[in-house]
Amino acid sequence: MVVVDRPDPMPLQAVLFDFNGTIIDDEAIHHQLIDELLISENLRPTGRSHRRLCLGKSDRTALLDIFQEQDRSVDEKQMQKLLDRKSAAYQQRLGELETIPIYADLLDFLDNLESTGLQLGVVTGATRAGVELVLTKTGLAQRFKAIVTAEDVTQGKPSPDGYLLAAQQLGVPPQNCLAIEDTFPGLLAAKAAGMPAIGIAHTYPFHMIQRRANWAVDCFADLEIQRIQETYSN
Ligand SMILES: [Mg+2]
Repeated sequence: MVVVDRPDPMPLQAVLFDFNGTIIDDEAIHHQLIDELLISENLRPTGRSHRRLCLGKSDRTALLDIFQEQDRSVDEKQMQKLLDRKSAAYQQRLGELETIPIYADLLDFLDNLESTGLQLGVVTGATRAGVELVLTKTGLAQRFKAIVTAEDVTQGKPSPDGYLLAAQQLGVPPQNCLAIEDTFPGLLAAKAAGMPAIGIAHTYPFHMIQRRANWAVDCFADLEIQRIQETYSN
């Protein structure tokens, strides 16, 4: 674990997790589903631009950017249809999998967090149906006291709204929360909410993710929450 930038000391009370690419290793599934959707709309698949256009963003934001980049307009009704189709296809795809691909070292990390009495939450641009499916199937649903999804905020990441709402739901000031994120829009959202953040190198290389985070780790197994707690309370 590398300390990049120490936040001001505050007692740590809650840990807020991003979902796609942080809790679940599903970016390849999303990439494929978005491209299938684009092809069905006579749009070009994202190819090499996928990271730039889609990662860390809600499907709505990503699709709006893609339509704009390809000089195509989309009205709200059509957008909602596309989002519903994407959400249904995601749930179907996950339903076909024998094992839900949550990161292998997440469970031990959650056990460790719970033993310290910290409150846990999820802040994501993913849809509630998809998140609930994953958390229920993996037996994790009860662990998270606040779950903020695409439906709960008007503006997705990098807007701070989702993080601020989760902090409010938990009754914890944002500066007493810790965010865990795998992408730049997510880290920017946490920062804009006044929340220190860990960058986890699940999606981007370590040296890239650490530039925008207070701490950087390769995986949950490397994340020393007790050391981070000491930084908050000292
Ligand atoms: Mg993510």
